[in-house]
Amino acid sequence: MKIIDTHCHINDNKLLPNAKEVVSRALANGVVSCFNNGDSFASFDKIVELSKTFKGFCYNVLGIHPEFANETNDYFFSSYRYIEEHKEIIKAVGEIGLDYHFNKDPLYVANQKKRFIEQIRLAKKLNLPIVIHSRDADFDTLNIIKEELPPKIDLHCFSGSNEILKEYLKLPIEVHIGVGGVITFKNSRVLKEVVSKNNMEIFLTETDSPYLAPTPHRGEANEPGYLPLIIKAIADIKNLPLEDCAATLYNNGANFYGI
Ligand SMILES: [Zn+2]
Repeated sequence: MKIIDTHCHINDNKLLPNAKEVVSRALANGVVSCFNNGDSFASFDKIVELSKTFKGFCYNVLGIHPEFANETNDYFFSSYRYIEEHKEIIKAVGEIGLDYHFNKDPLYVANQKKRFIEQIRLAKKLNLPIVIHSRDADFDTLNIIKEELPPKIDLHCFSGSNEILKEYLKLPIEVHIGVGGVITFKNSRVLKEVVSKNNMEIFLTETDSPYLAPTPHRGEANEPGYLPLIIKAIADIKNLPLEDCAATLYNNGANFYGI
């Protein structure tokens, strides 16, 4: 079985000190590549370093997470310059988007939208797909995507309904959704419905490590090596042989990132 982790953060302090062990456990469980996603500007160097240490296994996805939307112009312009300068070794711009979960202050929301749009435009200019983080912001995210129409998107750790997904699938762009540990949770009714009702071709496997560990590791630090648990849950819902399900999911991830 060949597996891709399309969205993780091995650069996170919870995993980075043990990166070697994390990567060898991933390899032992069939994971052949991991896409570390940027959040802050400070994460960029760590992610690029990992792609050099674990060449051909760790790949770079760089972008500024909405939680940093109140940072200065200088902060964002430096980040964009970094992305442009490292274009050759970047596979996508992410994770970028909107997050209204903790704070809906109007200025913060306006800044999030502005920086999301700027980064979508940067990705379009560089001809890169985008990885989207959207939390409690379904309609605003959809509206921005409708306006900007980036050609290739991954709605990472998708938490929306099947109705909102249908709206995305009407757009003239390539839409994928990231499915992670949540699919193994007993109470993940909405995501299970989304997985059961849609074609395999739209799904990407991800862990979002070190967050959202699948059952039975819930509450622990997540890592890419737990991906077989997520694939098993998808195969069970789709009633597919595990190997076939894994092969399709691998191809989806490889095509999305162009590896
Ligand atoms: Zn993430």
